[in-house]
Amino acid sequence: MTAPRDTAIDIALLDAEGVRPQVAAAGAAIAPAPDARTNIFDLDRTGLEDFFEQKLGEKRYRAHQVMKWIHHRYVTDFDQMTDLGKALRAKLHEHAVVRAPEVLLEKPSADGTIKWLIGMDPKNAIEAVYIPDKGRGTLCVSSQVGCALNCSFCSTATQGFNRNLTTSEVIGQVWVAARQLGNLPHQRRRLTNVVMMGMGEPLMNFDNVVRAMNIMRDDLGYGLANKRVTLSTSGLVPQIDRLGEVCDVSLAVSLHAPVDELRTELVPLNRKYPIEMLMEACVRYALRKKGASVTFEYTLMKGVNDQPQHARELARLMRRFDNAVQMKDAAKVNLIPFNPFPGTRYERSPEEDIRAFQKLLQEARVLTTVRRTRGDDIDAACGQLKGQVMDRTRRQSEFRKRLAAGGGT
Ligand code: SF4
Repeated sequence: MTAPRDTAIDIALLDAEGVRPQVAAAGAAIAPAPDARTNIFDLDRTGLEDFFEQKLGEKRYRAHQVMKWIHHRYVTDFDQMTDLGKALRAKLHEHAVVRAPEVLLEKPSADGTIKWLIGMDPKNAIEAVYIPDKGRGTLCVSSQVGCALNCSFCSTATQGFNRNLTTSEVIGQVWVAARQLGNLPHQRRRLTNVVMMGMGEPLMNFDNVVRAMNIMRDDLGYGLANKRVTLSTSGLVPQIDRLGEVCDVSLAVSLHAPVDELRTELVPLNRKYPIEMLMEACVRYALRKKGASVTFEYTLMKGVNDQPQHARELARLMRRFDNAVQMKDAAKVNLIPFNPFPGTRYERSPEEDIRAFQKLLQEARVLTTVRRTRGDDIDAACGQLKGQVMDRTRRQSEFRKRLAAGGGT
């Protein structure tokens, strides 16, 4: 999430820092020209069953065999899928392809964090970050190249919006990481959690993100429990409701301020969906399922939103949420020390202010954690994901016009 740079320049810089260049796995390279065949990575279980039945005239269970080859064994060549007959393999070659994004670079950190630069097409690359921690391994995944929402403290916002990622590009990040980690979904689990917290607003790319999250949670995919897949949104109220109707995942909301005036300054989307509306949508989301909680992310910026009165307002908001959901600790606050980036006017809050803020929330009986910074040596911390955006100015203004007109993805 920083200012755009040319891909070639980026790669050269990273090489100079001692990054390990990666060669794409066989069958996983980006096709140079458009291919009319269906990319199987674009289909969740239902979509793939329909494809087998309607397009290939095959039994639906064939979809299950192919999903296991791809997501459990990382096989992308139909000829290596040995439980499929020769005739079916020939049909698949004719109508389908398994095309994952290409790993351009892998950058491991001293603390075990790994960052991948992943090529989406010849012009765009995004980053996915893996963060191992006591008994869990979390992958942070992007949903768009750039972002149109223009949050004032976010480096992704400085590069504007280029395009939504396809389903294959979202799930492809998980596939790439799982394969590189040697993850075996039902035996050796190195990837236990996925957070949609990378570049972009996932609810602006609703269908592709939901389809990808279906594959993450499917036993034929990555077999992650619903609560281990988290979608983080800046607060698109109608889409939060829609998400609750079609998909059961953990919800995180980028709040960053407890009052409207300040939140609008930090997250301009707040003008359209102010805090009261947003909190009501969060209550509806939590009430769908007994025991569900919502995480509220709060990036602490020196002298902006880190003062005692902000903590007290935030505590009030969180207690109201718990009361509305009628559950203790239904609201969880995750405090995130701000990661400065070139050109930003904000600064990280001093450590003692972060601790004082957390203490005030805890004294008000609000469940509060502070996110530890990881992968410092590889710029992997939240807010530092880099992406390549080309031709962004025109697309950014078109997208903002659509947003202002009330349009989504
Ligand atoms: S929605 Fe997220 S990615 Fe987009 S500008 Fe805001 S903080 Fe950045």
